[in-house]
Amino acid sequence: MARWVCSVCDYEYVEEAGDPATGIPPGTPFEDLPGDWRCSRCSAGKEAFVRAGEEEVEMNDEDYL
Ligand SMILES: [Zn+2]
Repeated sequence: MARWVCSVCDYEYVEEAGDPATGIPPGTPFEDLPGDWRCSRCSAGKEAFVRAGEEEVEMNDEDYL
């Protein structure tokens, strides 16, 4: 499955994990998210997300704070 990254805030939507904050169950493809789904961090629309690829999720990106 793929990862999608918000181009506004770098929030990462991981299809395997879904997005519990917005009620999206694990395993939901990005394409199947509701049309009005928004980034749970910055409320950007789906059009703000770019596909990040199929590789394993690395934790490095989480350490910027
Ligand atoms: Zn965002």
